[in-house]
Amino acid sequence: MAKRVSEPTTKVVGPLRRVDQRDELHTQAAMGGLGKQVQERWTAESVDPFRRIFYPEFRAQNSPVRSWRAVSDGPLNPKRTEVRNPQRMSEIIKGVAEFLGADLVGICQLNQAWVFTHRGLRIDHHKGVAGEPINIKHKYAISVAVQMEHENYRNSPSFIDNASTGKGYLEAAKVVVSLAAWIREIGWSAKSHFLIDEEVIHIPIAVEAGIGELARNGNLITRRYGPRIRLGTVTTDLPLALDGPIDVGVQAMCTDCNKCAINCPAQCISYGEKVIENNVEKWALDNKKCMQYWTANRDRFNDCSRCFTSCVWNLPDTWWAQIITWGIPRWHWWRKGFLWMDNWIRGVKPNLHQEWLYYKVPGDRKGWTLPDVIE
Ligand code: SF4
Ligand code: SF4
Repeated sequence: MAKRVSEPTTKVVGPLRRVDQRDELHTQAAMGGLGKQVQERWTAESVDPFRRIFYPEFRAQNSPVRSWRAVSDGPLNPKRTEVRNPQRMSEIIKGVAEFLGADLVGICQLNQAWVFTHRGLRIDHHKGVAGEPINIKHKYAISVAVQMEHENYRNSPSFIDNASTGKGYLEAAKVVVSLAAWIREIGWSAKSHFLIDEEVIHIPIAVEAGIGELARNGNLITRRYGPRIRLGTVTTDLPLALDGPIDVGVQAMCTDCNKCAINCPAQCISYGEKVIENNVEKWALDNKKCMQYWTANRDRFNDCSRCFTSCVWNLPDTWWAQIITWGIPRWHWWRKGFLWMDNWIRGVKPNLHQEWLYYKVPGDRKGWTLPDVIE
């Protein structure tokens, strides 16, 4: 069991400024805010068919996640189920979410600091709704995580880990859209938030809901799946009991380790101490350099997850991994020993050979994506 704590391990030291979604770097990259070259590459059609099915950028009807947008919110069943026991309701909601495909579920109050001020996804720009104010009055947030394949997360960046990332977004969308619909069908307001229809920031909500902790690499690390998860959120007024944030030793581990910083090809992860940004104490990350790197070689990758794959916490979901992560928050010598062992077994710069379907990484240039002819 993860240790519950009264405050998130990422400290907030003053009032938080809400974020305008139009300033998000994914949108900026697509709309030209990071320069013409990045924009051209970012918006070019990928050579990888998985990219084309997981992100609705060109032939949207070939991208299942696109259809979830139409049902991300919906009508209420007028016959409301009365909730006299929020604790029991929370147990049921977690059971429903797991049945629908969630691997981790946590509940917190919806902190308005994590609600964007204005819409600004790329799709919002295309639909002419970018800049519309966002106003979510829901009281609670349900944070959902789905795991991604460990085998595909052994090397990055490549189309192999990219495929699992895209599938993770799709799976997370499926769970939160269905969960929000289930809540509306018992008569309570609920809205799902996912890749192409989100009005909240998932990671700090997941921290407050006790799914995991914010790490040096800017990702959420969970005890069981490390950083290898994708998040979705449901906001709702359904009366629920809250989970607290957790301390599974991520801050302590990241203080002793900087493997993701060593491995980041764009060198945008801090090696040093935490800094204060928007009154949040966290490790600095040059997100702009990160986004620029994603477009560096469109023949080989669409995005990068090297800070996931190289992370010492990127362990398979096994009993021995559970023992390792159990010891991390407890003893400094254990963390040092684990880091030494990871460096010895996987190497300081892990780069495991992968073959999957028609991909080979590393391999000759013909091995990076689908060949023109299948022989
Ligand atoms: S995604 Fe890649 S480029 Fe960006 S921070 Fe992680 S390792 Fe660095
Ligand atoms: S590689 Fe090390 S420093 Fe980076 S996120 Fe993982 S545990 Fe933290």
